[in-house]
Amino acid sequence: MGRSPLHSGCVLSPRRGCRTQQRGRKSLGWKVRPRPPAGKNLSLTMLVSCCPMSFFDTTPRGRLLNCFAGDLDVLDQFLPIVAEQFLLVFLVMISILVVVSVLSPYILLTGVGLAIVCFIYYLMFKRAINVFKRLENYSRSPLFSHILTSLHGLSSIHVYGKTEDFIKEFKRLTDVQNNYLLMFLSSTRWVALRLELMTNLMTLAVALFVAFGISSAPYSYKAMAISLVLQLGGNFQATIRTGSETQAYFTAVERMLQYLKMCVPEAPLHREGRSCPHGWPQRGEITFQDYQMKYRHNTPIVLNGINLTIHGQEVVGIVGRTGSGKSSLGVALFHLVEPAAGRILIDGVDICSVSLEDLRSKLSVIPQDPVLLSGTIRFNLDPFDHYSDEQIWDVLERTFLSKTISMFPQRLQAEVVENGENFSVGERQLLCIARALLRNSKIVLIDEATASIDVEMDTLIQRTIREAFQGCTVLVIAHRITTVLNCDRILVMSSGKVVEFDRPEVLQKQPGSMFAALLATASSSLG
Ligand code: ATP
Ligand code: MG
Repeated sequence: MGRSPLHSGCVLSPRRGCRTQQRGRKSLGWKVRPRPPAGKNLSLTMLVSCCPMSFFDTTPRGRLLNCFAGDLDVLDQFLPIVAEQFLLVFLVMISILVVVSVLSPYILLTGVGLAIVCFIYYLMFKRAINVFKRLENYSRSPLFSHILTSLHGLSSIHVYGKTEDFIKEFKRLTDVQNNYLLMFLSSTRWVALRLELMTNLMTLAVALFVAFGISSAPYSYKAMAISLVLQLGGNFQATIRTGSETQAYFTAVERMLQYLKMCVPEAPLHREGRSCPHGWPQRGEITFQDYQMKYRHNTPIVLNGINLTIHGQEVVGIVGRTGSGKSSLGVALFHLVEPAAGRILIDGVDICSVSLEDLRSKLSVIPQDPVLLSGTIRFNLDPFDHYSDEQIWDVLERTFLSKTISMFPQRLQAEVVENGENFSVGERQLLCIARALLRNSKIVLIDEATASIDVEMDTLIQRTIREAFQGCTVLVIAHRITTVLNCDRILVMSSGKVVEFDRPEVLQKQPGSMFAALLATASSSLG
């Protein structure tokens, strides 16, 4: 008696089934072509071109991980295999029905009757299985979030002795997820049991037809029909199970499409036929015209009616209390968020009219949180392999890092672990400065780049910044107000508005000046 695909282990384990099938095909001499990833288009569109910063700001990390790991895995690994197996067993089942119906048309009638009952079962069961699968998918997100949070705060958890609490919470979340998984698997078993009963009735019908000699078909044909109909039970079950699993796995596609619908796309990365003027920006003049910005439609305005012009090659220090909108100026300049009103011009060109790639490749930033990627030091400084080793060593020299890096046996090829955690925060900031120096952009934004560097190093770095970025427009968001005293002009921000914008010596003398007040506070706290 032949075994159904369900019993041969294909359906229960799609990965194993795939390998078994591929091995089988190879032995038959068929060409096995590598399967293109099914989720390729969905994931790339989502990651690269579609989702703006606000999407990543508002979506919990666990949900993102679930989407990019769990749902994509289902799409790439499970869905194509289960769908293929469904088609396979479905066609086998139809063939068996055709063969046995030759015995007598009454068998076909019995088959149709049973198929109607099975269809009713399927309709009852379909909704439940989709709900269980969807719940199982959703319950994975808090679990992933919990794992990420625990990993992130591992040292705090140990210090405060909260290990037990975190393990308890982990168990609770795993239980919730496993409950939904159990419900999903039990529901498939529930329907399988009922369908098996139906197919056994079909087997009984064929056996009765053969035993009472109702059909005039030859005995050999009857024997073959009996042997085939015995396989019907397994195949029918496999058809229903793989069919419902295919449908359940489509909830992953549904979730990804939901994300796509949710996010309003960012401006295009490339604009066909609209490149920025050659050599732009030549002077590096930045003009804000009635500029307003908010991070998301439901958040307050954080930059309110900014009107100012920063001349080319000017060094501007930006100061203000925390939350006054200093970093948001950088967010606006990089077009990470769409303006609510007004515009920003760089050398007379509206930044919204150039593609994101053109704009962002012309600017350099030394961010408030120094960002290093896992890879090598060389990769972090020159990810696109545009510069020679000599040029890289030159910028390392200028940022006082050459000694530290030459201590690594692999030098520029030394490893940088995730988030650059094998470097101190100060060293990470210096590496970010080196990266910006290497790019040699006309406009450089430095966001409190010296926040984690000691005073002596800070003075050296300030000098380097001034020397290295000569001929560039430099916006320095100041951490220590005294470090921006020798900037060309000072921009004082408060509640998203420009309060003062003038030369430091003018502001210092101005009665009631906010800059003078900030400077006085800084000096008194130092004193
Ligand atoms: P600090 O000196 O602490 O770095 P800042 O002057 O750089 O402060 P910003 O980071 O520009 O301040 O923040 C300005 C305002 O924008 C704050 O009220 C803040 O809550 C809000 N804000 C900043 N980032 C976001 C974000 N990603 N989503 C929503 N609101 C934000
Ligand atoms: Mg900031």
